[in-house]
Amino acid sequence: MSDDDWRQRLSRIEIPISVSSNQFVKSCLDKLIKTGRLSKNDGINLMLEPSLVSVTSLANMVKLARHSDNVFYNRNLHINTTNICTLACRFCAFRKGPKHDDAYEMMPNEYIERISPVASEIDEVHSVGGLHPDWKVEHYAKIYSTIKNEFPHIHIKSLTAIEIIHISKRSGISIAKTLEILNESGLDSIPGGGAEILVDSVRDRICRGKESSNEYLEVHATAHKLGIPTNCTMLFGTVESTEERIQHLIRLRNQQDTTSGFQCFVPYPYLPDFSRLPEAQLATSSEVVRMIAVSRLMLDNIPHIKAYRMNLGDHLSAICLNAGADDIDGTVGHEEIMHDAGSTTRLDTSEAELVRLIMSSNSTPIRRNSTYDHFIEVESDFNGLRINLPVNSW
Ligand code: SF4
Repeated sequence: MSDDDWRQRLSRIEIPISVSSNQFVKSCLDKLIKTGRLSKNDGINLMLEPSLVSVTSLANMVKLARHSDNVFYNRNLHINTTNICTLACRFCAFRKGPKHDDAYEMMPNEYIERISPVASEIDEVHSVGGLHPDWKVEHYAKIYSTIKNEFPHIHIKSLTAIEIIHISKRSGISIAKTLEILNESGLDSIPGGGAEILVDSVRDRICRGKESSNEYLEVHATAHKLGIPTNCTMLFGTVESTEERIQHLIRLRNQQDTTSGFQCFVPYPYLPDFSRLPEAQLATSSEVVRMIAVSRLMLDNIPHIKAYRMNLGDHLSAICLNAGADDIDGTVGHEEIMHDAGSTTRLDTSEAELVRLIMSSNSTPIRRNSTYDHFIEVESDFNGLRINLPVNSW
C-alpha cells in the first residue's frame, strides 16, 4: 500500500470521540492525514498525553487505515546458536561464560535434529545468540547451508547487528562481505535485536562494548543495500528518557527514508529477572501499550509493528492489537532470551490458539511468510477453542 493510500483511508475512518474530543491528538490525526509524518515534539507529547485511550485510539485508526482489521503471524521456530558471549550487557540474563555449566554451542546437525520434528509445520527459523569467541563466518555459513539443504522451504532469519559485526571482525572481512557469504549460504533476513536504545550515552550505561548506534544502523543499511530485509527493535524501560525513546524512533525512521529495508518494528520492555540493572525504571503495562501506539504513529515508513508476545505475554499482546500493532509472534516453540529474563509466556501455543487470540481482539488472522509478500487468511480453525462466553437468557 502506498503512502497516499493509507492516508486517504485514514481520512475516511470514523473518528472515535476519544480522538475528536482531544485537541492535541486530533491535531496529530490532521497532520497524519495531511503529511503522514509527526514531529519529534509530537512524539514526546504523545508519550506525555494524559489520555492513554486517545493515543491508542489514534494509533488503532492508523493501523486500520494501513492493514484493515488484519493481524499477521507466521509459523516459526526459535533456535539460539549459543549462549556463550564475549560481552556482558547489563540487561542480559541469557549470556554465559564459556566455562559455565549451562553454556552450550549448537552444531549444524543439532539444528537439523531440532527442526526435523516440526519441519512440515513451520516456514521460518529465527536464530540469534551470543558472540562466540571462536566462530567465524564459515561456522554460520555451514549452519545455514545445512538447514537449506535439508529444508529448502524454510526461511532463515538470523543474527543481530552485533553478531554480524563480531563475525566480520573474527573473520577479517567487511560487513558487506560477511553478509554476502551468509546470504549465499542461506541467510534470508535479519531480525532487529541489539538496537536497545539508539542513543550512545544510554548504550554506554546498559551495554558498554556493544556496537554504537551508528554501527547498528550501518549494518542494517548494508543489508538493505544487498537486498536483505531486516527488522528493527527497541528495548525500553532501562535508563532512557522519554525524549531518548522518541529519538530512537526518529533515527530508525530516518534510516528507513534512505534504505527502505525495515519490514517490522518490534518494541519490548526490559525484563529484570537475573540481569544486572537495579536502577532500571521498568515499564508498566500502560506504558507498553502506549509505546506500541506511539511507535505506530511515529514510524510512518515502517509497514508493520509487532506485539512481541515472548516478552509482553499473550494477554498484553492481544490488547496491543487494538493499539497500533498489526503483527504478533508466530508459534515460536522454543525461546530462551526473554524467558531467561523472566518471561512466562507459554512456548507450546498452537497455531489454533494463536488464531483464537487474534480473533479475540476482533481481528482477522492472516498467516504470512517472512517477507510479507504471501498471505493466507486463516478460517476459524481453532479446534473448538471458545472465543466468547455463551450468552444465556435469564
Ligand atoms: S545481549 Fe547479546 S551481546 Fe549482550 S551479553 Fe547478551 S548475548 Fe551477549
